Amino acid sequence: MKYLLMVAGFFLLGFYTKESAAQSPVERPKLVVGIVIDQMRWDYLYRFQERYSDKGFKRLMTDGYNCENTMINYLPTFTAPGHASIYTGSVPALHGIVGNDWVDNRTGKSWYCTEDTSVKSIGGGKAGLMSPNNLWASTITDELRLATNFQSRVFAISIKDRGAILPGGHTANAAFWYDGETGDFITSSYYLQKLPDWVSVFNKRNLNDSLMNLNWNTLFPISTYVQSTADDNNYEGVVKGEEKPVFLHLTSLAVKRKDKGAIRTSPFGNSMTRLMAQACIAGEKLGQGNNTDFLAISFSSPDYIGHQYGPNSIEVEDSYLRLDKELGLLFDYLDKAVGKGNYTLFLTADHGGAHNAGFLTDHKIPAKSVSIKEINKDLNQYLMQQFGVNSLVKSLMNYQVLLDEDLIKSNKMNRRHIRQEIIKWLKMQPGVTEVLDMESPERLGVALLKERSANGYNSNRCGSIQIILNPGWYSGYAPTGTTHGSWNPYDAHIPLIWYGWGIKKGKTFRQVNMVDIAPTLAALLHIQMPNACIGKVIEDVLK
Ligand code: ZN
Ligand code: ZN
Repeated sequence: MKYLLMVAGFFLLGFYTKESAAQSPVERPKLVVGIVIDQMRWDYLYRFQERYSDKGFKRLMTDGYNCENTMINYLPTFTAPGHASIYTGSVPALHGIVGNDWVDNRTGKSWYCTEDTSVKSIGGGKAGLMSPNNLWASTITDELRLATNFQSRVFAISIKDRGAILPGGHTANAAFWYDGETGDFITSSYYLQKLPDWVSVFNKRNLNDSLMNLNWNTLFPISTYVQSTADDNNYEGVVKGEEKPVFLHLTSLAVKRKDKGAIRTSPFGNSMTRLMAQACIAGEKLGQGNNTDFLAISFSSPDYIGHQYGPNSIEVEDSYLRLDKELGLLFDYLDKAVGKGNYTLFLTADHGGAHNAGFLTDHKIPAKSVSIKEINKDLNQYLMQQFGVNSLVKSLMNYQVLLDEDLIKSNKMNRRHIRQEIIKWLKMQPGVTEVLDMESPERLGVALLKERSANGYNSNRCGSIQIILNPGWYSGYAPTGTTHGSWNPYDAHIPLIWYGWGIKKGKTFRQVNMVDIAPTLAALLHIQMPNACIGKVIEDVLK
């Protein structure tokens, strides 16, 4: 009997050991860090490389895996769709974030992508009335939370609300963004009822003023910025309080006039974001627990600086040399706080940016900045002549024709006829390459445009006639600076570099898409893909 019990004991013990081995945790990194550089063109990796340090971009390029040919496979290439698509592995047609702004075709209500008046601002003013409620799909950050029964923690940080909220997904522990009125990082009651202490402490440091008081001069002697147009030129916008778009930029003047928003359009916005990310890692002890945590960071200032000065400006060149230093400091910090080799990191962009149109035409390359509002006015005038009803087109937002459906109904008009006239008229306009009827997609032309416009089209939130402008043409507010939004490579070709735990060293020129980022992370982490994911795993990246 004793012997039998002993045998049974051995069996049980053996069985138990086997069981506990089966329950050993899945191998995952301590922390995933997602970095989005707002408006970073892929070519900036090389254009400014000579003066990058070994610690920032070059560290990722040398020791990580570089997907050199990563494209955005939908329209329009704006910030909110970009951040949503990176983190959902999906496209606007399916995740619902079709622009930074849109009109709901069922209710006629105009929406800002992350607005939510049902929540309370936590720590700030109106800027806090935000949540991810307009995002229909789950994000990779949501899936990590679900996969670990919410033991993994997710935080998202950006100057722009949408740059933090959309990456954080629906289940983030918190997203923090910058309130340009108060100069504080804030959140909303969607996430928390009170700012964590570490955020209040961070806000009390008043970094906005100390950074802006440094004033923005070039890192190197200005004569050495041979990659860019000479500083004083007609392609760059003048910021408030200055007379010319030239160095030295006296950012301290903004401190004097208590303008807390001005930091966005300076490299100090990146310094502040990097310091906030580090404060979050320290304050939340990210990467110190038993489960994989996720920190999503979006650097917004490159977008503001790009819009203001354009890609060929000394300002953009200098801001990337400075951003490279910020990244180096962040990576050093991660090495110390989480441990080299314990975290996985990816760096990408939400879209690129066009060259300033005036700059291109001065160098004989066709381009133009057009006023989409003027085109809208002319189009309505034409329709007035044809049909005797004014304002049939509500807007050309997101390069899409949005009809006033109520007006068409109440006047008992022939909708099909109006749409035909609109398409006919638009096709006659200079700089219009193609006009796509999204209600008859079988008739669309060039395969790539067909795919990208269909991926960006959702009938609830989009206008059903898509305008494609000529290469180099864009809807601009001013002759200076630049913008983005088109299908063209300057807007749609983005950097994508992977680094750290589980990542191979190398590079590929094979085309991958923005939507492939989330499923690749899902494979790396052994978790489910987001629920509207259409991307594919980039196998080359994974060890
Ligand atoms: Zn952006
Ligand atoms: Zn932008």
